[in-house]
Amino acid sequence: MVKLATLGSMGWIPTRNRHTCCYCLEYGNKLIILDAGTGIARFDEPWAQKILQHYHKAYVILSHYHLDHAAGLIYLPHFFKDKEVHIAGPGQSIYGQRVTDILSRLIAPPYFGRPLLDFPMNLTLHELVIGANIIDNIRIDTILQEHNDPSIGIKIDNTVCYITDTACNQQTVDFVRGCKLLLHETWFDIQDYNTIIREGKSSPDAMKPLKSHSPVNRVAEIARDASVETLMLIHLNPVYDEKRLSAMEKAAKEIFPNSQLAVDGQYFILAAKEREEKKVRSRK
Ligand SMILES: [Zn+2]
Ligand SMILES: [Zn+2]
Repeated sequence: MVKLATLGSMGWIPTRNRHTCCYCLEYGNKLIILDAGTGIARFDEPWAQKILQHYHKAYVILSHYHLDHAAGLIYLPHFFKDKEVHIAGPGQSIYGQRVTDILSRLIAPPYFGRPLLDFPMNLTLHELVIGANIIDNIRIDTILQEHNDPSIGIKIDNTVCYITDTACNQQTVDFVRGCKLLLHETWFDIQDYNTIIREGKSSPDAMKPLKSHSPVNRVAEIARDASVETLMLIHLNPVYDEKRLSAMEKAAKEIFPNSQLAVDGQYFILAAKEREEKKVRSRK
């Protein structure tokens, strides 16, 4: 069984109901954490504590190192104490620096009192390359994306795709084709997208935001063209209130009906023969 819990659906800034990027994927007998934003803090909530109790090993897979995806790494000593933790991210082949060097610089005095390599857990760091990677029998495919700093699109065992912090790109269609669940960042609604396009006609600089993030209409087209089963809109824009986010979900459904907005505290079950969604916490 594959089960995904949303711990943090927001990009950039945690808001009242939404933490920054973090998804918890129970994949057979493995616990996979996609990105480590402030959403890691939700492991303090009883429903997420229950998930954690079942596993002594966790695999944290990072799309890149912007802080809305990595700040929660400093919470690991509390929630993952005495567990076996594997952290995998883009390294030498993409950044010209090893994952160990990148993270040892990020999580060390004077920025955090306890250096990463002194965390009280059995910790192993892994380098992800573009293409196929295997970590403990988990197949992780990646693509290089267009973002302010390099980010990678992630595909777990051809089933769940995690595409965040990227411009919309045709290569994503081929990469995610036929997957069961596509998590794709959705930063601009139609209104903002139209403004960017309009202003871009007189000033090419105005188009720049579309080189690092994605508009909802293009995201839904990717899901449709790639024939995925379900599209979940993630890495939401904290500038938008819930009403505007719901309108964005509606716009996605018009292009790709099986679209849904990620909501912190919800989980999504992909079983072999049936799939169901369950809400474990109501939207506040
Ligand atoms: Zn981000
Ligand atoms: Zn980013």
